[in-house]
Amino acid sequence: MSPDGRPATNNPTPFECSEALLRVFEYLDGEMTAEDVSRVRAHLDACAECFRQYDLDQMVKMVVKRSCGPQPAPTQLRSSILTRITMIRVETE
Ligand SMILES: [Zn+2]
Repeated sequence: MSPDGRPATNNPTPFECSEALLRVFEYLDGEMTAEDVSRVRAHLDACAECFRQYDLDQMVKMVVKRSCGPQPAPTQLRSSILTRITMIRVETE
């Protein structure tokens, strides 16, 4: 039985969490096909752990956009922002 009462059969081809998280960046960049988008959304809907991560990624994206404009953010900047946001969230939870 799943904790939120959803039937497990609701998700016939689930992503592994690691794959879903990798796909989130493509999802945010709008680089995915409609089919992949719906699969990622289905996983995020069913997996609280990935949904938290997705929320963080959205925040990073917004912060990066503001500080770097239209340029893609360097990976190092992106991960350092992600680390800071994670620390802030841990402190406030
Ligand atoms: Zn997951």
